[in-house]
Amino acid sequence: MSVSICYIGLGSNLGNPITYLNNAVEALQAHPQISALTVSRFYNSKPQGSQNQPDYLNAVVQCETALEAHDLLDVLQNIENNNHRERTGEHWGARTLDLDLLLYGNIIIESATLSVPHPWMCKRSFVLYPLRELSPHLVLPDGRTLEQCIANLSTDDLELMR
Ligand code: ATP
Ligand code: CA
Ligand code: CA
Repeated sequence: MSVSICYIGLGSNLGNPITYLNNAVEALQAHPQISALTVSRFYNSKPQGSQNQPDYLNAVVQCETALEAHDLLDVLQNIENNNHRERTGEHWGARTLDLDLLLYGNIIIESATLSVPHPWMCKRSFVLYPLRELSPHLVLPDGRTLEQCIANLSTDDLELMR
């Protein structure tokens, strides 16, 4: 059974974001087919899309899993659902918990329900800075280094959790 190293982006800006991020970490830790979890520090970031919503709390988790990528996405969506995630259809609207699969080993996936690497990850300081804590020498499946991706990214909208 082959195991892949995966990275998951966590976000929350409704209710108690610290609790929701901790709930997500605990649920991932408790999953029988997910192991070797490490968690970045938590960061505050400004919302994308409508600014008429609270700031976000973000973090990144590294883990190992033998789950196939779509099965891992199912696990992530179940954890979201168990944490009061409502799917309003509004893009980038406020939410209690958002779990994005950022990287699944060194694999590229383009299916109807799953794009990996996550398409916007390299434009998002709230993803790349916590990711760098966990894997400073990371190389993306297309050969770019995390350092190259992070080089031109502003940290204006990002700060360590207050
Ligand atoms: P963004 O993807 O820009 O961060 P979002 O997180 O707000 O936006 P959601 O509403 O949470 O988007 O997800 C919409 C759909 O995106 C999901 O139903 C899922 O099928 C799909 N999706 C595609 N690739 C991924 C991925 N790498 N991680 C999580 N969901 C993904
Ligand atoms: Ca997202
Ligand atoms: Ca999402």
